[in-house]
Amino acid sequence: MRISVANGSHVEIVKMRYHGGMKETATITADLKQAGLRATKQRVALLALLRGAPMPLGVEDLVRKGKNSFDTATAYRMLEAFVEGGLVRRLAFSRDRTLYEAQGTHHHHAICTSCATIVDVEACLPRTLDERVRSTAGFASITDHALEFFGLCKACSRKQS
Ligand SMILES: [Zn+2]
Ligand SMILES: [Zn+2]
Ligand SMILES: [Zn+2]
Repeated sequence: MRISVANGSHVEIVKMRYHGGMKETATITADLKQAGLRATKQRVALLALLRGAPMPLGVEDLVRKGKNSFDTATAYRMLEAFVEGGLVRRLAFSRDRTLYEAQGTHHHHAICTSCATIVDVEACLPRTLDERVRSTAGFASITDHALEFFGLCKACSRKQS
C-alpha cells in the first residue's frame, strides 16, 4: 500500500502528548548551550515549537507555526544542528517527507497510511532484541533503534468500509 504521509496532507491530532514537555525558555536556552549551540531567538522559537508539538512536524509545518520567525532554509539549518546536538529526532517514514520531534523518552509511532495521523506509542519491544541484533550483525554495541507501525486509524477504516 502506498503511504500517503508523503503527500503532506493536513495532519489530524488524535493524542496529546507533549514531546519533552512545554518547557521554560530558560531551560531551552540551557539545553541549546549544552548542545554547543548559541541560544539565538530563532533557535529558541523553533525548539519551543517542537517541544510544544503533540506530534512530529515537517519543516513546512514548523515554518507556518513559527509565523515568519524563520524561513524554510533557516529552519532546515537549525534542525540539522538540533539533530546533531541530540535535541531533536529526525523521522523518515516516507521517502519524500521528513518529520522532526523533540528528543523525549524512548517511544515508537503508529502511522495511519490514509490520513497520516501519527500516534506516539510508549510500548517498546524487549531490549533483549537489541542484543540479538547486535550479535547477529557482529556489532560492538547497539545504542538505539527505530521501529514504526503502519496501519489504518479507526476514522479512515470506517470511511473505507
Ligand atoms: Zn487515518
Ligand atoms: Zn513521537
Ligand atoms: Zn523501542
